[in-house]
Formats: sequence, structure tokens, C-alpha cells
Amino acid sequence: MKELIQDLIALQDVELEIFKAEDGLLETPREIEEIDGIILARKRSLDAIDEEIAELEKRKVPLDIELAENQAILDAADARIKRIKTNKEYLALQREIDLAKKRKADMEEQILTLMDKIEMRQKDKARIHESFEEDKAILEKKKKKLVGRCAELEKIINGYKGKVEKLRKKVDPSLLSRYDRIKQNKKGLAIVPCENGVCRGCHMHIPPQLFNELVRGDALIACPACQRILYTDLDPQKKEE
Ligand SMILES: [Zn+2]
Repeated sequence: MKELIQDLIALQDVELEIFKAEDGLLETPREIEEIDGIILARKRSLDAIDEEIAELEKRKVPLDIELAENQAILDAADARIKRIKTNKEYLALQREIDLAKKRKADMEEQILTLMDKIEMRQKDKARIHESFEEDKAILEKKKKKLVGRCAELEKIINGYKGKVEKLRKKVDPSLLSRYDRIKQNKKGLAIVPCENGVCRGCHMHIPPQLFNELVRGDALIACPACQRILYTDLDPQKKEE
């Protein structure tokens, strides 16, 4: 009986390790995906600023052209004004010049507003870019670690698989199927120690009579509360295996 229990414990230990490693393997790609998502979102916000700046610059182009055209009108008027003979002509040209000057001031203000906006967005971009580069380095490092962990976990699992096969062959088939059944319902923990009459699986007291039977070690005893197979008083060295 003692040996039977020890075989089961050994099997459970290895299977729990695999269970843990598989759990980690499921979790790791999700964490990697999360990191990729953060990096992508930051990239997108930078792209959005770039687009905004390009849009502002596009709006500035026709204004620059118009301003140059208006300046040409002013220069031509300046040249003409020296050759004017009558007061009427002079007044007409002066009105033209005033209008052009007003337009010039108006356009210069619009251009300045646009340039202010562009400068502001460029500052935003630089700020975001700087923190992005810092965070990206941290995130990439974390990702590399996770990828490494994945490979490590796969190695652990592969290493244990052969061990499990050997251990399972040692256990009596009917007991093995009973163990598997409990294992499935109890998240991997099918066989647990019973210390001072308390089941370490569910922390319930088992009836004293049942505990006495367990200590005698003639039969396989299950916890009445959680159905896990119980053991007690094993050679501590073997138990640690
Ligand atoms: Zn129990």
C-alpha cells in the first residue's frame, strides 16, 4: 500500500509540474500579445500626430502662395505710384494698396496660427516619441524574456513527458483511472496528505475511525468531503521526491 501511494505521489508531482508549465505556456503568449498591443497603440498615436502635422502643412501651402501673389501686387503698386499724375488715380491706387495690405496682414495671421499649431504638435510628437522609445526598450526586453520563458517551459514539459509515461506504467490501471478522475475534478490534486486527521486538500477533519484506518495503511482511503486519496506518515525522504 505504501509503495502504491508513493508511486501515485511521484506521478502527481510530475504531472503538477507539467500542469504548471502548461499554464504558463498559455499565459505567456497572451502577455506577449499585450506588449505588442501597447507598442502598436503608441505607434498609432505617433502616426496620428504625423498626419495632423501633414494636414496643417497642407493647409499652409495655398496661404503661402496667396501671400506671395499679394506681395507681387503690392510691389507693382509701389512702382506705379511714383508715375501717377492725377489725384484721382492716386486715390484709386492707394485704395488698392490698402486692401492688399489688409489682406496681407490677415493672411500672415492665418499662417502664424497654423505655424503655432504645427510647432505645438511637433513638440507633442517629440515628447511622446521620447517616452515611447524608453518604454519600447523596456517592453521589448520584457517580451524577449517571455519568449525565453516559453521555450524554457516547452523544454520542461518535454522533459517531463517521458517521466510521466514511465510513472504511469508503474501504477495499477484501475487506481490510475480513479486518480485521473479525481485529478480532473480537483485541478490536478488527486492525492493529498492527511495531517492530524485533517485533509490537506479541503482542510476538513475526517472521522477518527477513518483516520485510524488510514494510519493502519491496509486500504486506500479517500477523503469523504473532497474524494481525494489520502496518505499519512510516509517516509519523509520519499515524500519529497
Ligand atoms: Zn478532503
